[in-house]
Amino acid sequence: MNKKTDELQVELARQDELKNKKLMTNMWVLLCTTSIFYIGIIYLAIFALKEGPLLGTIVGVSTVIFVIVAFYALKLEVEAGYYKCNNCGHRFIPTYWAALWAPHFHTTRYLKCPECNNRSWAKKVMTKED
Ligand SMILES: [Zn+2]
Repeated sequence: MNKKTDELQVELARQDELKNKKLMTNMWVLLCTTSIFYIGIIYLAIFALKEGPLLGTIVGVSTVIFVIVAFYALKLEVEAGYYKCNNCGHRFIPTYWAALWAPHFHTTRYLKCPECNNRSWAKKVMTKED
């Protein structure tokens, strides 16, 4: 590999990392804002309405919106960067479905690695290589 290709690779990796970080930031901003609004709306509705069908509708509709946003936030998280296998160190992007059903702690998910076929607590990383 010559020097120019090398530099190009580094530049591409850097752009990839930046893009992934941006996606993660968007994900957190979206999730936090929605959570705050969701809790706020529920509190206000309970406080102002006490009971009745309107309260039920408000709680129901905001819950549906919150769930949709949570699913979308997961999509952003899966698309941002890679998961690093705790067993062999291979970095991979899981399917949305696999990520959805994987137990997780923060952004570390219990996923099956396509390289070694083992399940491990795969950490979220922003780059394809170190
Ligand atoms: Zn592995």
